[in-house]
Amino acid sequence: MRASPTPAPTADQATKDAMSSPSTASPAESASTASTVITNIAALVTNDPSLGDDSPVGLIRDAAVVIEGDRVVWTGETSKAPATDNRVEADGRAVLPGFVDSHSHLLFAGDRTEEFNARMSGRSYSAGGIRTTVAATRAASDTDLERTLVRHLAEALRQGTTTMETKSGYGLSAEDEARALRLAARHTDEVTYLGAHVVPPEYADDPAAYVELVTGPMLDACAPYARWIDVFCEEGAFDGDQARAVLSAGREKGLHPRVHANQLSYGPGVRLAVELDAASADHCTHLTDADVDALANSRTVATLLPGAEFSTRAAWPDARRLLDAGVTVALSTDCNPGSSFTSSVPFCVALAVRDMGMTPDEAVWSATAGGAAALRRTDIGRIVPGAYADLVLLDAPSHVHLAYRPGVPLVSAVWRRGVRVV
Ligand SMILES: [Zn+2]
Repeated sequence: MRASPTPAPTADQATKDAMSSPSTASPAESASTASTVITNIAALVTNDPSLGDDSPVGLIRDAAVVIEGDRVVWTGETSKAPATDNRVEADGRAVLPGFVDSHSHLLFAGDRTEEFNARMSGRSYSAGGIRTTVAATRAASDTDLERTLVRHLAEALRQGTTTMETKSGYGLSAEDEARALRLAARHTDEVTYLGAHVVPPEYADDPAAYVELVTGPMLDACAPYARWIDVFCEEGAFDGDQARAVLSAGREKGLHPRVHANQLSYGPGVRLAVELDAASADHCTHLTDADVDALANSRTVATLLPGAEFSTRAAWPDARRLLDAGVTVALSTDCNPGSSFTSSVPFCVALAVRDMGMTPDEAVWSATAGGAAALRRTDIGRIVPGAYADLVLLDAPSHVHLAYRPGVPLVSAVWRRGVRVV
């Protein structure tokens, strides 16, 4: 492939540009209005059936894409591509939209290798799970927290993720939660306040007082930095009434709900998410028929996070059941140091195809357009005129190789907002 005419930014700069909003884009990024065609693409995933074949991924063969500034301006067959300033030769490889990872927890410090090792070795491990990370996160400096965040965003970008949501939830005090969100907002638009992750030890005897903090002073401190509010609705975390109080308070401050729902057991999370028009109900591993019906008759996306089931040896969520019922499904990493320490969307695609009943087309759609739907975005997750030019070039002739060749680093180039960043 011919090198891109745009000089490659440094890794840190690329990450900063890659995940930040257009309004904070670097001058070099926003100033470029030169047009570039990527040509001789063997298989182009547009996610728009009206542009390509009738499959959900709207595939165009022998395709080209034209980028101008930060946007896609044309897609079609290579033979019909318009003249442009620059040309990149895809040489028979596949192009798809950058992955949209709509669920991660990257504001953390500390290490839980021993916990994972014990779990995978059949030994019990008595340290406090999330609370271990909370203690380490509270003790970390701003610089260390931000460095960890940037490192994982860069790692994800190299694997094709051009949009990444991330959450607080390891601070669990007004000051520590607001700090996490302030740091996150420097690097991504999709920032979620998850003060209601677990009840911290100092409130163990009075969880109601903690809910008052989360819905009061902590919310006031966090709302300026966040777009979303989330709650872990689960036995041992927050029950349905507490979760409703948290999400309702967030909505009054202009945050939109999303919910950690039905991960470890059946419960009210999914129905609450639908009732409150949450953008997404995440995990969805234990669902009743009523839960599936509720999702199917709503705008709420079911976000499946198979890295969590993989890393805890738990039963997989049933993607097939959801898709057959007409539910919109997203696939994300849940990247976090405890239960799913992977930033690889391709890995999640492979798991979803192998073990959750998804076709390769469905899994790729869910990891791109599905993630965008879970963030209520139409400007990402598709390669159509007007969308952001967030593209992944695979070193493979088809997007199906993401599942067919699991574990292989197939991502060979990434454009974000029209700039080649990998
Ligand atoms: Zn999560």
